[in-house]
Amino acid sequence: MDLRENIRKVRSELDAAAAAAGRDPASITLLAATKTQSSDTIREAIAAGITVCGENRVQELTAHLADNAYEGARLHFIGHLQTNKVKYVVGKVDLIHSVSSEKLLLAIDAQADKLGVVQDILLEVNLAGEASKSGFSPQESVDAAKKAAELAHVRLRGLMCIPPVSTIPGENFHYFETLRQLAVDIRRKIVDNNEDMDVLSMGMSGDYKDAVAAGSTCIRVGSALFGPRPPMSLRMD
Ligand SMILES: *Cc1c(COP(=O)(O)O)cnc(C)c1O
Repeated sequence: MDLRENIRKVRSELDAAAAAAGRDPASITLLAATKTQSSDTIREAIAAGITVCGENRVQELTAHLADNAYEGARLHFIGHLQTNKVKYVVGKVDLIHSVSSEKLLLAIDAQADKLGVVQDILLEVNLAGEASKSGFSPQESVDAAKKAAELAHVRLRGLMCIPPVSTIPGENFHYFETLRQLAVDIRRKIVDNNEDMDVLSMGMSGDYKDAVAAGSTCIRVGSALFGPRPPMSLRMD
């Protein structure tokens, strides 16, 4: 695996997809999904130009933080988060992409209050209604956004989705377009949040070009950068 070459390739395909959509490539973040990677590999990725790392397990996050592995990059949390683990994440990451229930939203707000910080968050939306995945339904996400607007220690920055895995060009475009439209609706309904809601976290290794065409501002890419993960780690939990 040539990490440097993979990063160059994904970034150039991302830039081309942005240009084709008439968008400024600089407005789209390439987040490296670092699950199962070693601290050394993460350092190598940052040295090769990665500016944002996305971690999706609390245990890995804690271990890599202890190693100073993310130094030089911003850090996001992108995985399923249990309410009783928020203390390991809140205040330690710049953005939590995966707020998937009102209970979790309230727990994050409470922990941020305790630390005296405001935590940036995204709401995860389960667009395909998949039972195996967490996230709000589109309707629930509107209510959750209203709730978030009432809380002093979270700042809603946008939405995130994980549609069914696809490598067929065009297949997931409609999900991404739906998420973009939902964000527009929410922005309209929650006037106070207008300015802050500028993130659409959507697109992975197999479908990021469609996500960029639909307006993604942050693609989360793992295997296209680091190569295939061991089977156990393919679970989207
Ligand atoms: C692993 C993961 C990714 C990256 O998946 P790839 O298909 O390897 O690019 C993106 N988002 C989340 C939430 C993930 O857990």
